Parts: sequence; structure tokens; C-alpha cells
Amino acid sequence: MYYSRKRTLNDIPEELTAIWSCTNESCNGWMRDNFVFLVQPTCSMCHSPMEKGEKLLPAVANTSPIQSKQ
Ligand SMILES: [Zn+2]
Repeated sequence: MYYSRKRTLNDIPEELTAIWSCTNESCNGWMRDNFVFLVQPTCSMCHSPMEKGEKLLPAVANTSPIQSKQ
């Protein structure tokens, strides 16, 4: 896991978050890795395969009991 030390002007810390993004270029679907429980999820919007990536998102408390296996 990587965390950004930068803080935004409105004081919401952001962190580089593991996400899955849709491989369909005409679709902007994505989801947080924390909420994915499948090895290879499919997009909930267009059912295309998804690929793992990272996105800078406002930090939220991770209440998932499942830890990232990185
Ligand atoms: Zn999609």
C-alpha cells in the first residue's frame, strides 16, 4: 500500500487506493479493491473484464475485514 503525504486545500487527506477499472474505453466504471471479493471482477455497468490499477481518492476508513494481499 502506498499513501500520499500530500494534503488537499480542504484538508481531506487523499491516498493512492487500489482499484479495479473497466477495460472498456467507452465505460468509466471502476470500484475500490476493498469492495471486490472476486479474483477477476467484471464491470457492474457493462460486464467487461476489469484490470487492477490505482487511483488517488479521499481517504476513508477501511472497515473491510479482508486485507489486501499485496
Ligand atoms: Zn464497464
